[in-house]
Amino acid sequence: MRKNIVAGNWKMNKTFPEAEILMNGLSEYKKRNSTNCEIYIAPPSLYLETAKKIFQNTGIEVFAQDISEHIFGAYTGEISVEMIKSVGCSGSLVAHSERRQYHGETDRHANRKIKTLLDAGLTPIYCNGETLEQRKSGKHFDVVKNQTETALSTLSPEEVAKIIIAYEPVWAIGTGETATPEQAQEIHAFIRNLIAEKYGKNIADEISILYGGSVKPENAKEIFSQPDIDGGLIGGASLKIEDFSGIIEGFN
Ligand code: PEP
Repeated sequence: MRKNIVAGNWKMNKTFPEAEILMNGLSEYKKRNSTNCEIYIAPPSLYLETAKKIFQNTGIEVFAQDISEHIFGAYTGEISVEMIKSVGCSGSLVAHSERRQYHGETDRHANRKIKTLLDAGLTPIYCNGETLEQRKSGKHFDVVKNQTETALSTLSPEEVAKIIIAYEPVWAIGTGETATPEQAQEIHAFIRNLIAEKYGKNIADEISILYGGSVKPENAKEIFSQPDIDGGLIGGASLKIEDFSGIIEGFN
């Protein structure tokens, strides 16, 4: 079912005591306030188990920031889907632009990671989006089409129905520059239409498509009010309770 979602990606931020303070604050916030969206948090992998314990009975779901495409074995430094499942995670981000930029991830890797998560019964949040150069040269629709088609290429329609997509223009991530609500809506509608053409309208209507890229309390409401935008993937502003709760309240 299509859901409204606000997901926080903490990236490589916060020491353990700092992370505990933020998790406890979020937990208190969620207990005190009824929200009109699901809340997901993707802390550094070292803190996943603690996050799961602190968020118990709050409804806040815990996601990993990345997983290995391999199931287990000699892959030093990696974490597997079964590991995140065994500490209670709901899923993982896949192919975040920083994984693409600094770790050479492609949509072929994304495809295998998405499949690995789905096979384990977990939810992938698949990230796509164009660079500034690609947007300036008018290639953004083609780029997002190619990314999405490759990443979903081996999935059945039933599997596609279970994924979440986060459209994140690379030029808007961590830069303070946000796509206008119209720019974001245009490409979200394009992605939903791509899914509809390939897998059917019912499936396209079920999928949550999140926007990511410098979402703040000041612009969240307008972005979330667009018909094909079902929430946000939030980086910098997920690190402060006041900012993150302000974004969640964009759904009120
Ligand atoms: C992100 O990391 O997915 C992101 C959107 O970051 P920011 O909100 O800081 O732009």
